[in-house]
Amino acid sequence: MAERVAGPEIERLIQLLARLPGLGPRSARRAALHLIRKREELLGPLAEAMQTARDKIATCGNCGNIDTADPCAVCRDGRRDPTTLIVVETVADLWALERSNAVSGRYHVLGGTLSPLDGVGPRDLNLDSLPARVAREGVREVIVAVNATVDGQTTAHYVTDLLSGLGVKITRLAHGVPVGGELDYLDEGTLAAALRQRTAF
Ligand SMILES: [Zn+2]
Repeated sequence: MAERVAGPEIERLIQLLARLPGLGPRSARRAALHLIRKREELLGPLAEAMQTARDKIATCGNCGNIDTADPCAVCRDGRRDPTTLIVVETVADLWALERSNAVSGRYHVLGGTLSPLDGVGPRDLNLDSLPARVAREGVREVIVAVNATVDGQTTAHYVTDLLSGLGVKITRLAHGVPVGGELDYLDEGTLAAALRQRTAF
């Protein structure tokens, strides 16, 4: 084992930082040094923000979003269209859709996808409450905004079956040419999906 250059407290900080997505041991070391150098304006406020987040974070019992209140800010927002419900896999997807500013509805966060190979079944996801929620909130359109993966599409079909008979319109995201994308650079799957889902001018 390499000789330690810092005390156990700093080594622990580096080890924890190295567990963050996108950070390996090298960048964790760099991040730790940066935090230590900026301990007044960065390390202190960061530690406080993390403590507050740990104490206050709650999962919304209505939609599965993460916030500091239950129900969450999205569920409490009266300006949203209550008739549109967007089903997403993760909170990260909810945040991404919110950044796009393209739709004003409420969300239902599944907490993953059905994955028979990994042993993830309907009971493991936030699915049980979905039909009752759709009925109770007067939802007219459910947008199934899941990933274009095999598991995502399995989940989309399950959600469609689950909601059939409730009289709601079920839609899904189009998959195709990204804005600004050049055809030559697309993989065959994306190009094929874009062709299948072509629309009239
Ligand atoms: Zn919520």
